[in-house]
Amino acid sequence: MNFCTKCVLPDTFPGISFDEGGVCNYCRNTPVPDAEEKRVHLEKFEALLESRRSKHPFDVLLAYSGGKDSTYTLSILTRRYKLKVLAFVFDNGFVSAQALQNIRHMTDTLGAACIIFRPPFEIMKRAFGLAASTDIYSPKTLDRASSICTTCIGMVKAMILKTALSYDIPLVAFGWSPGQAPISSAIMQTNPRLQRFSHRTIRDPLIERIGGDLKPYFLSDADLEVDASKWPVNIHPLAFLEYDEEEILKDIASLGWVKPLDTDPNSTNCLLNALANYLHRERFRFHPYAWEIAGIVRSGCMERSLGLSKVCEEEDMQMVNYAASLLGIDVGR
Ligand SMILES: [Zn+2]
Repeated sequence: MNFCTKCVLPDTFPGISFDEGGVCNYCRNTPVPDAEEKRVHLEKFEALLESRRSKHPFDVLLAYSGGKDSTYTLSILTRRYKLKVLAFVFDNGFVSAQALQNIRHMTDTLGAACIIFRPPFEIMKRAFGLAASTDIYSPKTLDRASSICTTCIGMVKAMILKTALSYDIPLVAFGWSPGQAPISSAIMQTNPRLQRFSHRTIRDPLIERIGGDLKPYFLSDADLEVDASKWPVNIHPLAFLEYDEEEILKDIASLGWVKPLDTDPNSTNCLLNALANYLHRERFRFHPYAWEIAGIVRSGCMERSLGLSKVCEEEDMQMVNYAASLLGIDVGR
């Protein structure tokens, strides 16, 4: 397998081509935000916080996984910006025990309220089992994440929005790394129209096959009728704030966050990740984190050699089989 000489995208990545220097078309066509662009976003972000602060039961609803990036985001929102945060944890049945301990410890330490929301495992098993075995999403969706992660994140985003609307929380925060989501979407007003569009890509294919049991975990038609002025602004501040994995780990460790040793190297919270990555690599011949890691490398926040080792690392088969057995899937190894 050959890789772009600038980022870490492999020659198996959809739509990729290389110039004479071995640099991929994504590197050539993806603008990397400069310091000025980050500064403009930071100013906009801080003005937004001031305009929304202290007017609602909570200032911010944070999508919280207990992993390093969302923990760091929680630390920034509470310590640096003194915001009143409600952390929303989606327990997909595969949250590591250490991640759950981190969630309790960090929300207590940082003074955030916390909801841990867990659908019955049977429902998650059906949804993940379907995503693992059947092509239910468009291929484009799967360039940037595995089918299993796409399912989970789709439910998380829907539940987050549902919770923000019901508690009347004006801001919704995510801990996306600079490679996971572009700076252009770092501050974005949500609205019913966009939500209807995202329903078509994830909610509808899932509900069509699994049925109405999944409906409570997505927005309903009544939710979509909520006045557009009540819809929150999505923010993912790591797109324009400092992002250095080592520094992040140091900062949150100083607050008592403990790195789980039972998860896949690309995830600091989820025991399903190894299986999700394994199935994706078997099927598409590229790592589902390749796009994200390429973005982080391109933005200068990670050494290319480290990124390369991440996208080449094979999954621990014990972890793959652990998740597969819980889902009742045979991965054949
Ligand atoms: Zn590249």
